[in-house]
Amino acid sequence: MLPITLYIHIPFCLNKCFYCSFFSLNYNKYDYFFYKRYIFSLINDLKNDLYILKNDNRLIKSIYIGGGTPTLLNIDLFELLFENLFLNFKFIHNLEITLETNILNLNKNYFLKLRDMGVNRISIGVQSFDNNILKIINRNYFFKDIINFLKLISNIFDNYNIDLIYGLPNQNINHIINDLKYIKILEIPHISWYELCVDNINSFILKNFKLPKNKILDDMFFLIKNNLLLNNYINYSISCFSLSKSYFCIHNINYWKFGDYIGIGCSSHGKITMIRKFLIYRLIKNNNILEYLNNKFIINKKILFKSDIIKEYFMNIFRLNLPFKIYYFSIYTGLSINLILDKINFLVEEGYLFKKKRYYYITNKGLIFNNDLIENFFN
Ligand code: SF4
Repeated sequence: MLPITLYIHIPFCLNKCFYCSFFSLNYNKYDYFFYKRYIFSLINDLKNDLYILKNDNRLIKSIYIGGGTPTLLNIDLFELLFENLFLNFKFIHNLEITLETNILNLNKNYFLKLRDMGVNRISIGVQSFDNNILKIINRNYFFKDIINFLKLISNIFDNYNIDLIYGLPNQNINHIINDLKYIKILEIPHISWYELCVDNINSFILKNFKLPKNKILDDMFFLIKNNLLLNNYINYSISCFSLSKSYFCIHNINYWKFGDYIGIGCSSHGKITMIRKFLIYRLIKNNNILEYLNNKFIINKKILFKSDIIKEYFMNIFRLNLPFKIYYFSIYTGLSINLILDKINFLVEEGYLFKKKRYYYITNKGLIFNNDLIENFFN
């Protein structure tokens, strides 16, 4: 049975960060009753998706509540959300529930209540420990706020993640060395360290600040990787580092293995396989909030073609820095491995992958040229 997870999108933020491509709306524009309606719409959206899955008895194995900035919502709205989720739907019993949070919410009771509701993993968008860099990218907190927030969270949750970015405007190797220094002191259990996606960055920034060159980006990438490995982190996906296997993010691993996921919320998307016919659907949700609140959830539902499936499968699996067996391809896609064997052999010859016994491993060349790897695979 293919695993399935649930993503819940809460697309409201206090301000727009300069590098952000996520769909988000101004939190201050709406009131409590609007957000309450949004929670009820989320539940209806999920019911609708599960209806599409029909007689499929799969249990949901993780929930990820992201945004936006979910922790802007009143705590009683989370109570309403979880009450309805647990009442109406089936989940595995040791469910991973991740919640993205903002750094300025220092309300201890708020997080204690979330923990009591079942939240057991927190994800914090730190991005950098440097005040100047934070200012450039329009984050609304400073270094001291990060430290205060981490103190609060580490006293309540054992499993938490911080997001960091390298390649930010005006960032240099010393900034990365500094970030690494704080990680070591703070003993963060899980780190997601992404390269800045320049396509998303606002033109004001591009005109006024210097972005690190490719050679510097490669140096940053290896500095991060080597330093974290030296400090006992496991590098289990291109951008994720974990202090032990117990902190691996189950939800993200499911994406990278090409498992199914339901996405609910304005502008979210999902991937659902109709097991009997092995048809894979991509569902895109409405990004018009008023239409969404009027139960017009799905704006695009399409069946993936064979070529899309192969491409998406490898785009995901090549992000996961864990050994894979070739027959997983058939399990997750329903397609024959004969469709990809020649290409996999080619990637081994080119040094992007290596094979040991029945497992394939991604090499350092494969990690650093991940986009080339995908290109090579499909051309
Ligand atoms: S807080 Fe997060 S979702 Fe909101 S604008 Fe910034 S990066 Fe985007």
